[in-house]
Parts: sequence; structure tokens; C-alpha cells
Amino acid sequence: MTPQKILIIDDDPDVAALVAAAAQHKGIDCIVATGADTFLTAITPDISLIFLDLVMPGVDGVELLRILGGQKCTVPIVLMSGVGARILETAVSLAKSLGLTVAGHLRKPFRIAELDILLDLAPEPKKAVQATEDLCLQDHELARALLQDEFVLHYQPQIEIATGEVAGVEALVRWQHPVHGLIYPDSFIAHCEGLDLIGQLGSLVAARALSEIAGLSGDRSRPLVLSINVSAFSLLDLTFPDTMFDLARKHNKKPEEIVLEITETGLVRELSQTLDVLTRLRMKGFHISIDDFGTGYAMMQQLQNIPATEIKIDRSFVMNMNHKSDRVMVLKTIEIGHELGLKVVAEGVETAKHLEILRAHRCDIAQGYFFSKPLSPKDFKAWLANYRGV
Ligand code: C2E
Ligand code: CA
Ligand code: CA
Repeated sequence: MTPQKILIIDDDPDVAALVAAAAQHKGIDCIVATGADTFLTAITPDISLIFLDLVMPGVDGVELLRILGGQKCTVPIVLMSGVGARILETAVSLAKSLGLTVAGHLRKPFRIAELDILLDLAPEPKKAVQATEDLCLQDHELARALLQDEFVLHYQPQIEIATGEVAGVEALVRWQHPVHGLIYPDSFIAHCEGLDLIGQLGSLVAARALSEIAGLSGDRSRPLVLSINVSAFSLLDLTFPDTMFDLARKHNKKPEEIVLEITETGLVRELSQTLDVLTRLRMKGFHISIDDFGTGYAMMQQLQNIPATEIKIDRSFVMNMNHKSDRVMVLKTIEIGHELGLKVVAEGVETAKHLEILRAHRCDIAQGYFFSKPLSPKDFKAWLANYRGV
């Protein structure tokens, strides 16, 4: 039984037209999407086969697979790409590990006969993405929220352990939703990455943080170091170092007073493609921090290759330092970080005991609820005015 309706996402109009023509020849309806947005909204229950191009400018096919996996999509997928056979096979394994059904793969350029076989093998339509409606709502909501500037930043202090002084702040984004109230980033960052909106959100966050930072310092003479979270996807943009540099200059903030936090997992995943951008950021003076350190799989050798200036030990280890294994992880990370000449930051510092252990082991910076939760600019200023050190 052939499918009734198939969906193609491919940036190459010739390939899309070829698949569409072959499908129509068999009496199958075909929808062509060229962007992530239109693709995700087009997955309706009557779609019985998806053709997905893995490599498209501006759209990450692998990330789309993750979204489909997260949505428990049951529609069989044909993966297409011009990349090497091994990469395509890895993508097939990845899709399967995400619980997706892979109907086959087509390595470009492919022959019509190969395509015909896949179209014939496709099963009857099954139920598609369960949460399609929710997802569509959120897609549009996110795009709208970006346009209408519904994002706000909260700031969490970072304390220099040796002196007890406030060294800087980490800017953390929140979505001030008109109906649902304040939404935390774990609910929308990955989604923004999947929809290719993360660059836009990142620019918005950097511009907002830089425009607010001077006002946060009150009358203190020492400038606050500003830490911003940067998605590894933003590092694929070759213009990112210049954009950041121009933005910093516009706001009179030295790049040396800005730390770009990138998660360990993101860094390792994209390292070969982002190394030049990271290096250029360093050359311009920005600091690079490896965020959520310990949760990824950075090998020692890779750690040496990343032009980082800081490691930020993941809060899950710091908060649980009463367990020996977590404490060992924290203390060893401090040691290794210092041996590599890196500054070591501990996040998730919740108690005086945590601080005491970190101080005894010469950790450089501490951040966590023990000092303060992330605060709105107004609340942060009030907090700073009352801070008397630790
Ligand atoms: P993160 O970079 O690891 O940020 C620290 C998170 O830990 C924050 O959660 C903060 O509220 C929380 N936290 C701080 N101190 C403590 C503590 O003592 N105990 C506990 N249990 N938690 C603590 P939040 O604000 O919900 O942010 C979650 C994640 O979202 C961040 O994790 C970061 O990866 C991401 N994120 C936040 N803002 C941005 C942004 O502007 N861009 C990007 N790409 N990602 C962002
Ligand atoms: Ca962070
Ligand atoms: Ca972190």
C-alpha cells in the first residue's frame, strides 16, 4: 500500500521537485517544506512518510530529528543527504535511538529507482506527531515573543571566594508570557535551537545584558564581569565574534569583562566547526567558560584544545558535595582546571558548608542560592547595596 500524503523538507528545490514528481506519478500527494517552521506545522495525522534532508543551511536536520523524537513521531522517515555514507548511517542510528522509524536513506545524488522502492515500501498512514497542536502553538508563540520582546533577564551574583567580593553576574533569560507568567529557560531554549531561533534570542539577550550591566553596578568602582549563556549553535555563525565585539564596544564594555558560557556538551558536539569562532572570540579578548562541566564527555585532550579560560562545575555535583563521589568530582575538577591555567567557578552553592569546602580547595568563584537566586535588575541592585560579604 502506498502512502497517501508525504512531506519533504529539503532546501534544494530540484531534489524536492524530483521527489514530488515521483510521488505524484504514483498518485501520492506531496507537501514541500523548506524551513523548520513550515515543516513542523505540516506534520498532520494524514502524513504517512517524511523525506528529511539532513544538511540544510540554517536548519539543523539532526535537531529536527530530536524534536520529532521528543514529539514521539511515528511517521516513517527517509533520511537524505549528500554527506558521506558513514555519516548518513550514523544519523540513521541516531534517529532509531530517538525512537523514530527509519524507512530508509537516500544518498544524493540518488536514482529514481531507489526513490520508487522507498515510496512503494511506505506503510499506510499512521497517527502522526501527537503534540502537533501544542508544538505549533509554541512555535508561533516563540516567534511572536521574540518580535514583541517578551524576554527579560535576571541576574545572579558570582562571588570571588578569596575576598568575598561580588566579581560579576550571570544573565539568565526568562520569558514573561502574557498569559502563563514567567517561563524558565529550560522550557524553551532547546525549542529555540530546534527552530533556528536561538541566534535571534542570543542577540537579544546579549544586547539587553550589555545595556543593563552598567546600571547594575551601583556606585562600586570595580566593573561587574558579565557572564552570558551562548548556545553552541550560535558559534556556527562566522560573524558572531564581530557582532559580539561591536555590541560590547557600543555599550562601552571591554570584552575582557565578558564571559561567554557554552555548555560542555554543546562545545564537544560542535568543536571541529566552532574552533575558529572560539579562537577569534578569545583573540578579541572575550573569556570562554565551559558550562555544566562534568555532565558532558570532554576528554582531557579535548579540554586542552578548547580555548577556554574558565570551567564552571555543574551544580548537580556542587549541591551534592556531601556525597563522596560528587565531592571528589568537584575537588578534582578544581585541581585539573588550575593545572590547565583555568579559572574555576562552582555553581549551585547552596550552603555555608559548600562554600567552606570550595574555599579550602581554592576554587575561584562561587554562585548559588546561598548568596542569592537570580534577580530582576531592580532586585539585584537592592541586593548588591545590602551585600556585606561572606
Ligand atoms: P545554567 O547556565 O547552568 O544556569 C544556572 C541555573 O542554575 C539557573 O537556572 C539558575 O537559576 C540555577 N541555579 C543557580 N544557583 C542555584 C542553586 O544554588 N541551586 C540550584 N538548584 N539551582 C541554581 P535557570 O535560570 O532556570 O537556567 C537554566 C538554564 O537555561 C541555564 O543553565 C542555561 O543553560 C540556560 N539559559 C539561561 N539563559 C540563557 C540564555 O540567555 N541563552 C541560552 N542559550 N541559554 C540560557
Ligand atoms: Ca550558565
Ligand atoms: Ca551551568
